Amino acid sequence: MNDTKNSIYKNYSNFSDKVNRKDMENFIKSYLKSLGFSYNQLAKKDPTPDDAENTCKDKNELMRRLINEIGDCKRCELYKTRTNLVFGVGNPCADIMFIGEAPGEEEDLKGEPFVGRAGRLLDKILESIGLSRKDNVYISNVLKSRPPENKIINHMSSIDACLPFLLKQIDIIKPKLIVCLGTISAHSLLKIKDPITKIRGRFFRYNDIKVITTYHPSYLLRNPIAKKEVWEDFKKIKEMLNRLREVENV
Ligand code: SF4
Repeated sequence: MNDTKNSIYKNYSNFSDKVNRKDMENFIKSYLKSLGFSYNQLAKKDPTPDDAENTCKDKNELMRRLINEIGDCKRCELYKTRTNLVFGVGNPCADIMFIGEAPGEEEDLKGEPFVGRAGRLLDKILESIGLSRKDNVYISNVLKSRPPENKIINHMSSIDACLPFLLKQIDIIKPKLIVCLGTISAHSLLKIKDPITKIRGRFFRYNDIKVITTYHPSYLLRNPIAKKEVWEDFKKIKEMLNRLREVENV
């Protein structure tokens, strides 16, 4: 009995002083797993394939409604210069979401995020850790309309107008992990101002969701030397996603 108590205390002590509800839930799940119990079996019935399918149908429906809500958006001046509104792409039932900054020229023409050179690089990086925009990720941007000459810095007030749609996308998808691609993405979501050199590769939280930031693929095209750091970040992303999926399946 004393061994069990010591084990509980040791596991619990591994937590930082700031234990939030999600950390506590994960701790309980991990501890039950170490004892050979299933959290799902003890706390609620195991989700059936039908449950998962229904949840996914709901998310697709909610995303369709959000697309209707944003419509031919004129909530900021960027509607005047865009060709297409670029809402997002991928699977709304994905457990990982990538958030870029704004559509570039090719994205604006095609109406899809990350389809230019930077997008092709992102696809390659995703593939290297077993992810694909067609199947198991969702990709969007902070801004849904292209800023002229890609100069977001001249249109920072548009972020206030557009961010609510990104937050609604996150709320529908409820990903386990969010990856911010670039400074503006991280600053907009996390409400921080630190330079990307200080925050990349570190885990933060948006509500109960883990968030990590890495360099934007466009930056990598201009600075290939940073690929090594991005590779390190993506190794962390893969490990964290696997851990979060394991906890979910306890
Ligand atoms: S950037 Fe966002 S808020 Fe502005 S017009 Fe485009 S969709 Fe609307």
